[in-house]
Amino acid sequence: MSESGIYSLTKFTKLDFQGKSSCIIWFAGCNMACKFCYNKPLTESRGRLSLEHIKEFLESRVGILDAVVLSGGEATLYRDLPDLAKYIKDLGFLVKLDTNGTNPKMIKNLIDEGLVDYLAIDYKAPKDKFKDVTNSGLWEKFQASLDLLIENQEKVPFEVRTTWHTALLSEEDVAKILEDLNSKGYHQTFYLQKCNLVDSSIAFAVLPQSEEINLKQFMGGKIPVEVR
Ligand code: SF4
Repeated sequence: MSESGIYSLTKFTKLDFQGKSSCIIWFAGCNMACKFCYNKPLTESRGRLSLEHIKEFLESRVGILDAVVLSGGEATLYRDLPDLAKYIKDLGFLVKLDTNGTNPKMIKNLIDEGLVDYLAIDYKAPKDKFKDVTNSGLWEKFQASLDLLIENQEKVPFEVRTTWHTALLSEEDVAKILEDLNSKGYHQTFYLQKCNLVDSSIAFAVLPQSEEINLKQFMGGKIPVEVR
């Protein structure tokens, strides 16, 4: 098996980057093991697709697609991400990065070099539950990335999103996340993603189905909340 660091490719979507026609590069590997993660095989892989294959595909889509989404797994663990992002930008595509926010150094590099046009950062859980939900001790790194993105929000737009499984996060936990974002000066839309684990056996923890959630209480605050 190749150890390219790239797991798979979604050749076309309009759902991931604000309606833009995009492809998604899925990077292998992750430094978290979120209990609700349904990408476990991807997080445990070292990659299956060669970089040449990816580049060949991208060149064939110039003038057809608007953007390339770098996702995973955790894309910022891919050491050569700046080189690849530069290659993508030079072809004329916009670049979106999906991240768990645990590599502020890489995020800063991408922003400083003008290699990313939009970011989506996952806010997995409030501080007191972060370790339990993500099986990682990366809260400080995540906070550093969040601060960095808020500092640069005029330069590079971004969104914050939380996947909500009711067995892991309570309504109070979501309120804590909103409180933290508000205190930091984040006033863009906050996205709540309902966790629909079809097959819990492939996640890092066996979880019951997530219960219906009451979102009304989060509407009308300083931060607009949307569900998707
Ligand atoms: S859900 Fe968690 S474990 Fe899964 S890919 Fe994302 S950050 Fe990694």
